[in-house]
Amino acid sequence: MPAQILDGLKIRDQVFAELKEENARLAEQGIRPGLAAVLAGENPASQLYVKSKIAACEELGIASWLHTPAASVSTDYMLQLVRDLNDDDKVDGILVQLPLPRQVDSKRVLEAVDPAKDVDGFHPVSMGRLVSNRPGLVACTPAGCMELLRRYQIPIEGANAVVLGRSDIVGKPMALLLMHANATVTICHSKTRNLSEVVRRGDIVVAAMGKAGFVQAEWIRPGATVIDVGTNKVTDPAEAESLLKNFPQRLEKFRAKGNVLIGDAHPDVLFTAGAVSPVPGGVGPMTITMLMSNTVKAARLRRAKSSVMAG
Ligand code: NAP
Repeated sequence: MPAQILDGLKIRDQVFAELKEENARLAEQGIRPGLAAVLAGENPASQLYVKSKIAACEELGIASWLHTPAASVSTDYMLQLVRDLNDDDKVDGILVQLPLPRQVDSKRVLEAVDPAKDVDGFHPVSMGRLVSNRPGLVACTPAGCMELLRRYQIPIEGANAVVLGRSDIVGKPMALLLMHANATVTICHSKTRNLSEVVRRGDIVVAAMGKAGFVQAEWIRPGATVIDVGTNKVTDPAEAESLLKNFPQRLEKFRAKGNVLIGDAHPDVLFTAGAVSPVPGGVGPMTITMLMSNTVKAARLRRAKSSVMAG
């Protein structure tokens, strides 16, 4: 029997409905959460991401502002822009879309963001709070993976969780969140030996490596849960034919379109795992969902009267 699908679009709709209710409560106090997005340069993928984030704000009644400095922008200009947004009381969340143009010192810019407005959860203060399991704003992609696991009631406590990837924005925070939820966590990276053996021990496997179809179906313990973070655009026909040989409809679409989005897990994990987050439609929509959730949370913590004890 194929695995249960952990449907990110369905969970997004649930969370959005809850956020609309929370926004209505905040509106009674005269508060409208607001997100400022900074998109430097003209990277088409970044433009698309920011557009969908702004569209999500509009759907939820969150105010949004888009700042679009030119590709030639300097670090000083970016720092001043971030400071202005820090000082603007209407702005609850600041999103600096990465990658920034090469000449800009990304670390300095991200560290200039007021941690109270750090809705991406990338600031060292946010990371520090996560390490010590204190309330704060958590990076959106790993937070979205946890939301998927929780809402589908996948048991985490006591589970063996294997995280593939150790980046600051996905792998590391993911491993910490799973550990705080009482999983026993193994973190893998490019130097890990006998990867297939390690993955086979996982009750929960989170794949965040950026390698299309890398995690093989036979590495997955029967019944395990696979959270697939990878989003890899495959354009090579031979690669697509091999990855999608058991998915004729997706292959048909690839032939018509010339590309297909493949996760870091091989599509065939659907036949060995107990539950799988699909690519697309799994973790991707959850990332934007958690950005919205963080923006509303930041507004509540910073501005709402009853926020003192809120987590
Ligand atoms: P990243 O910064 O490139 O990190 C990749 C990680 O994978 C590194 O820790 C690397 O190990 C590890 N790795 C690479 N090859 C490996 C191998 N053969 N065996 C074991 N580990 C290996 O990537 P990222 O930013 O974390 O993103 C990972 C993937 O998630 C990408 O496909 C990205 O597009 C996707 N993503 C999706 C979303 C979403 O919303 N759906 C959000 C963010 C990212 P080393 O540390 O040893 O180099």
